[in-house]
Amino acid sequence: MIFRILNKPELRELFDVLAANRIIGPVQKGTSHDGKPLYVFEPVFDFNELKLDYTSTTRPAKRYFLPSHETLCTFSIHENGWEKSVDFNIHEPHVFFGMHACDINALDKLDKVLLESNFPTPYYAAKRKNMFIIGIECTPQPFCFCRSMGTDSAFHGFDMFLTDLGDRYFVEVQSVAAFNFLKNIKTREPEEKDHARYMELVAEKNRMFTTIVDTTDLAKILDMEFQSDVWKYWGDKCLSCGTCASVCPTCYCYGVEESVDIDLKGAKKKKHLYSCNLIDFAEVAGGHNFRPESHTRLKYRYYHKHRGFMEEFEESLCVGCGRCSEACLAKITVPEVIASVRSGVKPKRRSSRHGK
Ligand code: SF4
Ligand code: SF4
Repeated sequence: MIFRILNKPELRELFDVLAANRIIGPVQKGTSHDGKPLYVFEPVFDFNELKLDYTSTTRPAKRYFLPSHETLCTFSIHENGWEKSVDFNIHEPHVFFGMHACDINALDKLDKVLLESNFPTPYYAAKRKNMFIIGIECTPQPFCFCRSMGTDSAFHGFDMFLTDLGDRYFVEVQSVAAFNFLKNIKTREPEEKDHARYMELVAEKNRMFTTIVDTTDLAKILDMEFQSDVWKYWGDKCLSCGTCASVCPTCYCYGVEESVDIDLKGAKKKKHLYSCNLIDFAEVAGGHNFRPESHTRLKYRYYHKHRGFMEEFEESLCVGCGRCSEACLAKITVPEVIASVRSGVKPKRRSSRHGK
């Protein structure tokens, strides 16, 4: 890893150098009911639109590499037979300008399944290999528990990573592409005072986490508590709306639909992301549903995240971004669910959304 110092005015120059590509970054989109700014990842054409001090985006950047709906292939049917056409749906490189460590770590987790498994997904691979990622240090929010999940900092999975030191950025340069881009921008070697400021900020950030999740032996505890009636308690609250999966940066379950045009001249195969909390998630041909109750579906979501993935990859499939807790209309939060499973005690009265 190479470290550089970039004075703040030079960041705009870096943006301009990269602007030949499609830049995706955090921008403000309205405010919440209590007046807080809401942020989303969107294409950015003007440096001034970028909100690099954003809290968190309501949705992850997933839709740019794992869209909720995607045509996998089309078929044209004619007199002499049929032709299949495949489009990986990537038309230009994407530069992600300002991704937090949790979202970078989420991509690494998706890679393990969609790139590095026995059956890689070419649609994901095509988009993933066409990305340039600029990470940026974040400020912990009340709903974040990334520190508990070990995803509060990123060691790989980005091209360069920025930490705001005040009037300058501390830049971690990870890839050759980033090194080459920076050759066109004025930077300097970090000095002792830059290292000292960086360390101060790391310590400051660590003190700011307020939501802590005890993940010690969590996979084993989940095994032991498979029959716990705590699952029924949470399942009865769940509305089976699927919002948690749609805002989750690591959920990748999907369904495939095939359709034939009414004139029989064409056909399509489409993929759409799906949530394991939706009522028909485990329904099979003939109408049998393996998980008809909401509590079994909710339970299996937690088992996939914190047990199944752990068994396969020795890490959890949750980065602790807290988006699902923020978005859930039933106010079901991961820290509270895990705490109740660990203790076997169903919360009596819930005074806050973050277990404080
Ligand atoms: S967002 Fe909440 S209510 Fe909706 S499916 Fe997820 S846990 Fe259930
Ligand atoms: S399960 Fe919730 S907290 Fe964990 S990564 Fe997904 S959205 Fe974030």
